[in-house]
Amino acid sequence: MTDKIEKTDEQWREELSPQEYNVCRGHGTERAFTGQYWDTKTPGTYTCKGCGTPLFRSETKYDSGSGWPSFYEPMVAENVEETRDESLGMVRTEVHCAACQSHLGHVFPDGPQPTGLRYCINSLSLNLDED
Ligand code: FE
Repeated sequence: MTDKIEKTDEQWREELSPQEYNVCRGHGTERAFTGQYWDTKTPGTYTCKGCGTPLFRSETKYDSGSGWPSFYEPMVAENVEETRDESLGMVRTEVHCAACQSHLGHVFPDGPQPTGLRYCINSLSLNLDED
């Protein structure tokens, strides 16, 4: 079990920039090719912007061509939770931090092996902790 982290909306607004808040707490999406990490190849661990939980490793990051950081699997499966997202007239699988519930992005079944999954994640939801 991942320990749950609860903060008030006021705390979130204090800790996050308006752009980070919009994505992490408001389920927004940054524009493609504008985020800090979409083209980053630096070795390290991507942690949750909201709470620091380790989410993805650089070894599983790949260039999907989408303009968002893309990974084929989470670093620790239980740290990334999924929900069904029927917004915008589509059915997608939303992914969020299991600890603090911050929105990360979506997962699609068109990724590379070995998983065939594409975790399409907002840079604004991540911090890169370089090795
Ligand atoms: Fe988190």
